[in-house]
Amino acid sequence: MISLQSPPLHLFRQRDKQSMKILIFNCGSSSIKFKLFNMPEESLLAEGAIERVGSEDALASLRTTHGKVESIQAIQDYPSGFAVIKSMLLDKDNGALASLSEVSACGHRVVHGGEDFGGSMRIDNELEAGIEAVFELAPLHNPPNLTGIKESQKMFGDIPQIACFDTAFHQSIPEVAFRYALPEDLYTHHRIRRYGFHGMSHQFVARRAAKLMGKHKYSVNLITCHLGNGSSIAAVRDGHSIDTSMGLTPLEGLVMGTRSGDLDPGILFYLQRKGYDTESLDVMLNKKSGLLGVSGTSNDVRDLELKAGKGDEKAALALDVFAYRIKKYIGSYMAVLNRVDAIVFTGGIGENGVAMRSRILAEMDQQGILIDGPRNDIHTGVEGEIQASTSRIKIMVIPTNEELAIARDTFKLSNSK
Ligand code: ADP
Repeated sequence: MISLQSPPLHLFRQRDKQSMKILIFNCGSSSIKFKLFNMPEESLLAEGAIERVGSEDALASLRTTHGKVESIQAIQDYPSGFAVIKSMLLDKDNGALASLSEVSACGHRVVHGGEDFGGSMRIDNELEAGIEAVFELAPLHNPPNLTGIKESQKMFGDIPQIACFDTAFHQSIPEVAFRYALPEDLYTHHRIRRYGFHGMSHQFVARRAAKLMGKHKYSVNLITCHLGNGSSIAAVRDGHSIDTSMGLTPLEGLVMGTRSGDLDPGILFYLQRKGYDTESLDVMLNKKSGLLGVSGTSNDVRDLELKAGKGDEKAALALDVFAYRIKKYIGSYMAVLNRVDAIVFTGGIGENGVAMRSRILAEMDQQGILIDGPRNDIHTGVEGEIQASTSRIKIMVIPTNEELAIARDTFKLSNSK
């Protein structure tokens, strides 16, 4: 006789694998981006965005298996933006959900977690207060991140909401690397230290690299290069970040599309004495520098490569300055790590920039780094190894997927008690 009290094993297995729809939000000062995943299958069901929130001509878009729909309409604030997202998702013809109750959990990208959050966390009142406590450190990002969380709570009611922090992966950085050589009270009273960003991406590619190498995630030493409009690089020892190029803010470190990265702080005093005010220096360093500043024409590596190919010397110099800074950081992280198993490239430039990868790693063969031309050429947006057979250190291209990383953490945390 079959006992009804103990169901057959396959039913338990089925229940373990039960799919959950998880909605991921990335809320900026003027945009709300979202992706709907089926987990644990990791299939993308829908993705969309509201761009230009706060304007008469905001752009709302949704892409599902039915295709893409777009509309331009007045969306003055976050509540109106979330109302539009709801109606797009529930649309009978082009939507992705029959009811909001199909969504089991929401995951939120939160830029700054300060020193309190070393990993993704389930959101409660205390956590919301923690996000608010570091508003000052990320004034452009954390306030809209928290508004998005509150709107999502209103929209979905009592389901798990998970916060995933850009800074969390770098909380393992030791004090010797995160402290600036400034008077101590700037750290103790003003929390001025290196935090680092792009953590979800560095962690995602570090875990993937370990898997591709057939090693345990906590046994690999890596240098992960996230090169996009914003760029950063991290030294990863035994799977943990031990140094990274971005600091208190995302301005430090590498040369970026429009950000300067590292510079002599004396430049700021010099310019202030010449009459530049704080606001204009902020705009100059964040919006007018980097590739754009040096080339004078573009922040896009593709444009600059075309221009350099036609003899534009400023474009060629911008590309060289960009690559040289990355090479210097790779060298310093090799010194810090001692053993490096692989250098990993990700982000729009890292994944697709064939010529840029060659430029960065040129003449490093004496240090055990030798890129293979043909292998590099075929890895455009494709995962794989691009080192020559004689290279001691592996060179890997791994497309990043920060939203999927958030979906994985959300799935894991919303299932744990
Ligand atoms: P974001 O930081 O905004 O997420 P991405 O990671 O999408 O940026 O990277 C955008 C950058 O990727 C573009 O500015 C462009 O310079 C670069 N990029 C995209 N495709 C290529 C390519 N084929 N070759 C070189 N660079 C590329």
